[in-house]
Amino acid sequence: MAVTDEQISRVVGAVPKGLLIGGKWIDTDSKVAVENPATGKTLAEVADASPAQGMEALDAAVAASAEWAATDPRARGEILRKAFELLTERAEDIALLMTLEMGKPLAEARGEVTYGSEFFRWFSEEAVRIAGRYSIAPSGGTRLLTMKQPVGPVYAITPWNFPLAMGTRKIGPALAAGCTVVIKPAAQTPLTTLALAAVLIQAGLPDGVLNVITTSQSGKVSGPIIADPRLRKLTFTGSTSVGQKLIEQSAQQVLKVSMELGGNAPFVVFGDADLDKAVDGAMLAKMRNIGEACTAANRFIVHESVAAEFSKRLAERMGAMTIGPGIDDGVTVGPLVDKAAVDKVTELVADAVGKGATVLTGGTAIDGPGHFYPPTVLTGIGTDANVFREEIFGPVAPVITFSTDQEGIDLANNTEYGLVAYAFTQDLARAITVAEKLETGMVGINQGIVSNPAAPFGGVKASGLGREGGTEGIEEYLETKYVGIKL
Ligand code: NAP
Repeated sequence: MAVTDEQISRVVGAVPKGLLIGGKWIDTDSKVAVENPATGKTLAEVADASPAQGMEALDAAVAASAEWAATDPRARGEILRKAFELLTERAEDIALLMTLEMGKPLAEARGEVTYGSEFFRWFSEEAVRIAGRYSIAPSGGTRLLTMKQPVGPVYAITPWNFPLAMGTRKIGPALAAGCTVVIKPAAQTPLTTLALAAVLIQAGLPDGVLNVITTSQSGKVSGPIIADPRLRKLTFTGSTSVGQKLIEQSAQQVLKVSMELGGNAPFVVFGDADLDKAVDGAMLAKMRNIGEACTAANRFIVHESVAAEFSKRLAERMGAMTIGPGIDDGVTVGPLVDKAAVDKVTELVADAVGKGATVLTGGTAIDGPGHFYPPTVLTGIGTDANVFREEIFGPVAPVITFSTDQEGIDLANNTEYGLVAYAFTQDLARAITVAEKLETGMVGINQGIVSNPAAPFGGVKASGLGREGGTEGIEEYLETKYVGIKL
């Protein structure tokens, strides 16, 4: 059913637009405008925090810290569980909000609500399973006790591409562990985080345990928070370049950091792969979120015996997708987030074509309003093309060929990034060997999506530090304390 203007005003109107500090919503004189990328028009305005207000948010998180850490694990878990249920009840409204501020098609936004809210359910269950160890020293006598304690106040910085899930993936484990949080969403997509905070308040989260700051000055507001010795943890999802700056700033406090950074995922198709499954997997790995995912397949590395057939089938599927505003029925490709994103994709395609690539489908930006780029398949790519090295963050699939397994693996590993890799083969021994040799934090075998709240998500090399989700996820928010006991 088509989305109505009345529905849009109700959903956008219901979102609190202030800063959330110590349980109060605070308005500011200056505002951050939120654009709808499908129309280029302003959707809403939210508060614009100053550096002083950022510090007030940290003060609130610090003030609430001891009491929240001492709250029974079951009580912490129940609040997360309730928030999971509320998100599920309101899935349709939250999905619409994400589509409006970020652009992804509604069906995908609904999928993100399912995925994102699941982190609250998962970590509601993990809250009661935080455990230490008791052992006898090898030489006898002394007893060794290890306990897990919340690390302390957390600062979370999230990107615009998964406005809900990137928040729940940090807030869920932090709250479960007993940490209080200040979260700063990207200025382009603050509405979903504000709606999420309202849900947590309704679920019974005490004042000051979660604080939200929206701002047009992310660097100026974040600097003093990161420099404050009361902060004990920084968790960031975003680009590698910003992550590197934040690691540098964190060094001053020797701050515990988690960094979920950029990717350049290889999608390797071996000669024995089931091509139907490989093309299905490629559609998911490439086109989920319009290609604006850190896990997006960035380089299709395809065995020379099947490359022509694979590229042809992929181009047919990608070329048949329906482009338009994400709220429209049947749309499978929404707008990119802004004009800069379209310009970047345009440049990468022009560079590849200039270096000899052939365009099988797409290849030219679509006139506005809105920031649209069509699904594009490029063949005849060499490793000198910028598209081979840089994160595309758009609907472009470059195909490069290989002849031996080792050559395919070397091409896949020929990047400073190491978030995820995909491999398609029907040979179990080859699948395991390849999974062992790929230099990434995650590998998808015969599947084009790896994200799962019950699994550890994260990268190696320039793709980051730490893991989110799984049993590993909560560890990022816990310190280990060892107590030696002389009997
Ligand atoms: P970005 O420019 O690095 O921004 C990410 C966040 O950092 C935003 O909230 C941004 O706020 C903030 N920020 C920017 N400069 C800052 C500074 N100097 N100090 C403090 N905060 C600062 O990345 P993006 O363009 O939003 O997101 C795309 C990137 O995220 C891609 O590289 C993608 O691969 C990566 N990503 C990684 C994962 C993962 O799990 N590995 C998941 C999703 C996305 P403002 O925008 O308001 O300035």
